[in-house]
Amino acid sequence: MSAPPQLAVWEFAGLYLTYWCNSRCAFCYVRGGPDRGEEMSVATAVRLWRELEEHARQHGAKMRVHLAGGEPFGDWTRLVAVLRAARDAGLAPVEKIETNAGWATDDGLTRARLELLDALGMERLVISCDVFHQEFVALECVQRCVRCAREVLGRGRVIVRWWDFFQQPIDTRALTREQREAAFRAALQQHPDRLTGRAAEQVAPLLPGQPAEAYRGQDCAAELLGSRHVHIDALGNIFPGTCSGIILGQAGPQTGCSVGAVWQRLATDWRAQPVVAALVAGGSYDLLPVARKLGYGELPAGYASKCHLCAHIRQFLFERRVWPECIGPPACYAP
Ligand code: SF4
Repeated sequence: MSAPPQLAVWEFAGLYLTYWCNSRCAFCYVRGGPDRGEEMSVATAVRLWRELEEHARQHGAKMRVHLAGGEPFGDWTRLVAVLRAARDAGLAPVEKIETNAGWATDDGLTRARLELLDALGMERLVISCDVFHQEFVALECVQRCVRCAREVLGRGRVIVRWWDFFQQPIDTRALTREQREAAFRAALQQHPDRLTGRAAEQVAPLLPGQPAEAYRGQDCAAELLGSRHVHIDALGNIFPGTCSGIILGQAGPQTGCSVGAVWQRLATDWRAQPVVAALVAGGSYDLLPVARKLGYGELPAGYASKCHLCAHIRQFLFERRVWPECIGPPACYAP
């Protein structure tokens, strides 16, 4: 008999500095966009960062914090303030910062920003470049950011996601609707990825679907309990690394709970969290009974993956305010 699933110690954490973004990518798993907000204050970022480090240390591990969003460069002053405050508080350097590079509009500005990030200890820069981002962000900005970052930081500290697209880019904005959909399908064949958030709504329907029954028994113990990776937003909502919109617990001033306390409660009592318990036991298929009782109808065209099924059911439950402490926040379910 296999051992019951146990919660892994969190060792990699991304702070969502904001849900705001200059883009509104069809693939965005947090549904970032120009009309989003929920910005993380400097004090909250430092508090969560410190608590994350304490949590890992208490379990004999090392925490690696990265900054994400939304677009973390959207408020440059705050991004720098967070890094300065973390450094002044004696916290470890930021592992990486993720960006779509839309801000890299001239060489001088780009180099100056990267030099400051380097001085503040940023280890790596991750630059998005794919068929989805390039509907909104000029390739020229990405190319400039990559070139300047390689000069300032060195090649080994610059990650382009995805490198193959960067080398052979497509101007997505020039495509017809049919070409765009074909490009999206090709991108996902090349880089299979989570189909949650806006991707579940806008991209998954372009892929072949299967009935919900096909995902029966595909449990999510590895993603929810076994993963060492989490993300945290400005409200202190803690999400599994790849499943934004599933709240594992809430840390921060609103609850008075530390990250370590949230982890401990979840480790002890994850079966009491209805969404986590169902997903760990039987995956997204096990969310169906509750949804069906409320009138959920399966998509006639089926679902492209267990995550597509999960996101579609969670959207339905969110809109009916079912388990709001586990299915949220509104930003992750907005249009
Ligand atoms: S089915 Fe849901 S819980 Fe499981 S990995 Fe996908 S998004 Fe996460």
